[in-house]
Amino acid sequence: MRCVKIVCVGQNYREHIREMSSDEPAEPVLFLKPPTSLIGDGEAILIPEGIGTVHHEVELALVIGTGGRDVPEEEALSHVSHLAVFNDVTARDVQTAARKAGLPWALAKGMDTFAPMSGPIPSDRVPDLRSLDLELRVNGELRQKGNTAQMIFPPERLISYISRFMTLEEGDIIATGTPSGVGPLRPGDIVEAAVAGVGTLRNPVQRR
Ligand code: MG
Repeated sequence: MRCVKIVCVGQNYREHIREMSSDEPAEPVLFLKPPTSLIGDGEAILIPEGIGTVHHEVELALVIGTGGRDVPEEEALSHVSHLAVFNDVTARDVQTAARKAGLPWALAKGMDTFAPMSGPIPSDRVPDLRSLDLELRVNGELRQKGNTAQMIFPPERLISYISRFMTLEEGDIIATGTPSGVGPLRPGDIVEAAVAGVGTLRNPVQRR
C-alpha cells in the first residue's frame, strides 16, 4: 500500500483539549506528517538529540481505499478500505514553542519514525467506528484510555471535511486524534497501543 499523505486531526477529544489547555475547535484541526515518518509494528521510535520531551498519542487510523474530493458524509465510510492503530508521536517541547510563536507543527510532528502504525485490517471487519476502545501503555503501565465515541468530529465528518480541501487518494492515512493521557516517551521504553477489534502496535523507543 503506497501512502501519499498522512492527514492528522488535532484536538478531537475534549479531555485531551483540556489537558493541552486548548479551546474546542469549530472545525477539525488538520496537520500533515510525511510518509517518511511511517514505521510498522516492532520498529523503533528514534528520538534525535536535543529536541526535549517526546509524547505518545494513540489514535484510530483510517486508510483510504477509494480516493475522492468533496465526499459527502453519507458516502464517506465507503472510501475507507482499512483501519489501523496509530501513534501520533510528537516532539512536545518543539510543538509548544511553535504554538507560542504561531509557527507550524511540521517539525514537531513529522520527524522520521514519528508515525508508528499497525498492520491495517479490512474496515468491513469493524461494524461501528464510533464505539472502539483505545488504550496505550508505556512499559506495561496504562497511560491512555478512551473510546472513539468521544470524538468531537466523527470519521465520516473528518473524511468529508478533509476532502473539501485536499483530494484523498488510495493509500492516504487519516489519524483521527487522541484521547487524554498523553505523556513522555524515553529511550529504553516500550510503548504499546491498542484499538479494540483493530489491532495492537508495539514499538521500542531509542536514542537516534
Ligand atoms: Mg494526535
